Amino acid sequence: MSLDKIRYDAARHRTKRKLCSSFAFALTFHYLCTEVIGKSGGRLLFAPWPRTATDMPQRKIIHIDMDAFYASVEQRDNPDYRGKPIAVGHSGPRGVVATASYEARPYGVHSAISSAQARRLCPRLIFVAPRHEVYKAVSMQIRRIFLDYTDLVEPLSLDEAFLDVSHERSATLVAREIKKRIWDETRLTASAGISINKMLAKIASDYRKPNGLFTIAPAQVEAFVAALPVERFFGIGEVTAQKMHALGILTGADLRQWDRASLVRQFGKAGILYYGYARGIDDREVIPNRIRKSISAETTFAEDTDDRSRLTNVLTEVCDEVWSRLQRHRFKGKTVVLKLKFDNFKQITRSKTQPSPIDSMPLLLRLAQELLASCDFEGHKIRLIGVGVGNSPEIAPDGIQLRLPFDDLI
Ligand SMILES: [Mg+2]
Repeated sequence: MSLDKIRYDAARHRTKRKLCSSFAFALTFHYLCTEVIGKSGGRLLFAPWPRTATDMPQRKIIHIDMDAFYASVEQRDNPDYRGKPIAVGHSGPRGVVATASYEARPYGVHSAISSAQARRLCPRLIFVAPRHEVYKAVSMQIRRIFLDYTDLVEPLSLDEAFLDVSHERSATLVAREIKKRIWDETRLTASAGISINKMLAKIASDYRKPNGLFTIAPAQVEAFVAALPVERFFGIGEVTAQKMHALGILTGADLRQWDRASLVRQFGKAGILYYGYARGIDDREVIPNRIRKSISAETTFAEDTDDRSRLTNVLTEVCDEVWSRLQRHRFKGKTVVLKLKFDNFKQITRSKTQPSPIDSMPLLLRLAQELLASCDFEGHKIRLIGVGVGNSPEIAPDGIQLRLPFDDLI
């Protein structure tokens, strides 16, 4: 072998190695950029990663929300109710308004207030007993319409859903068509919000209610979010909004003044989300057929009570029901949550987490009893008691979802 040949081979080998290593570097870099940074929302590796709503891969999300759903179904099916203030819910002393018609809303009647209070606010209010089977059937009807446009449909409740239509040229046109089809096929109106993520789409659907359609286009996101009062952000509840107000955070622009560390100090892990919200960022995907996160049962007392032995008896019944539902759905969870609603409608939840899933009714009951024993009623009586089990090891390996979304429970 000639010296030249040896030199040539050595040079070729070096080049190959260089190429390989730079290829490996490029691959690693690409992986870091797309996977790690993308999935962590840019938070994980580079805290000050310059990311705004407009430089993300753009999704097209529609949020559809039926207008005063239960009440509208009742007004559709009974001409006597049309144009009148109605409330779907039981009118008895323990009743609660599930949905109020738009005619009732100017009086201050809205969902979740007691029927007694609703009647005081609007004496000519008509109470209509709920017909859940009918609402479910209509809900399926509108879901079938959604599925004609995308498989990525995530229902939030009977009357609301997110749709990912990123493959479509114009999400606004799709939303307009869906609204029209809902009207044609059900004679009910829906409001649609369209934007680049779930948070913004949800806010948008509320913007022109009823029978509204509102798009927050990518170029408008920043200005829209800046002007938005914090209580209107999807994901910022009443209590958090009050805390923000106390800190002088009234709008998205105010929220944007806060760095991530300060928000985390004030609001815990949720501070990271709020940091994103202020910038119009929400990376949550539309997840079809949501995975069950928890199972629960609850009961409202015929008469408010603070009798601990009576409460313990009812707690046993509720746990029994939860246990049978857990078995029926083959669901396992590590966290037990106790929910109490007081006679002043204030609600508290207390939870306990075990290292492994709760595997017996006696264990469930014992944990629930310990939670109840630890609660101070502060002189109030109990109106409602509920028990939930969540934090399934199968769906939450990272242990993130310790808070049970009670509103979502069966
Ligand atoms: Mg609705």
